[in-house]
Amino acid sequence: MTSSASNQTVGLLGLQGAFQDHIPHLEALGARWRTVRDAAELEQVDRLIIPGGESTVMARYLKRFSLAEPLRARIEQGMPVWGVCAGSILLAKTVDGRPGILGALSIRILRNAYGRQVDSFQAVLDVPALSLSAFPAVFIRAPKIVEAGDRVEALSWFGKDPVFVRSRSVMATTFHPELGSDPIFHQYFLALPNRAPREFSAPGLPG
Ligand code: GLN
Repeated sequence: MTSSASNQTVGLLGLQGAFQDHIPHLEALGARWRTVRDAAELEQVDRLIIPGGESTVMARYLKRFSLAEPLRARIEQGMPVWGVCAGSILLAKTVDGRPGILGALSIRILRNAYGRQVDSFQAVLDVPALSLSAFPAVFIRAPKIVEAGDRVEALSWFGKDPVFVRSRSVMATTFHPELGSDPIFHQYFLALPNRAPREFSAPGLPG
């Protein structure tokens, strides 16, 4: 594995969803990228973005294309990964009271928890870790993180809800930074160290 952003290949999980919106940001930062749709393609990348989309569909495809276990193993070995919206659902340890498919991040998350009547909304967020104030964040049928484990760092909040969290090499945003013009979240992701998460050995969160 390499540590410099320009020498790395970023994978975009391309089974379903909004993976293409990440491409301009990665290119603006000079990062190589490729789509990942099976285990052989996963082997070609140094880090992975799991995009927004429909988590139930993506979970089904992860199983159908025999990608769930290899992906879990790579994350366990320390491959940096960023889950966006549906991606954060796939990473979560607990989803709507049930075990999540990857279980790589000790968060308890509820799908579509901001209500059907507000399918999408924009909020301005402060993200001190990125020196951002009033960052315009787009939420699309977003999940709500209702509990985060001790080792999970909350880096931004919408009201009382964490919306940007990180634990070692695993990060999640319940909003869509790729829909804005600022590549700062991608830059942060590219700098995440390759470091095995502790989540896999941590006791589960209460459902
Ligand atoms: N509501 C979707 C889900 O449950 C997530 C929406 C999104 O990724 N923008 O998977």
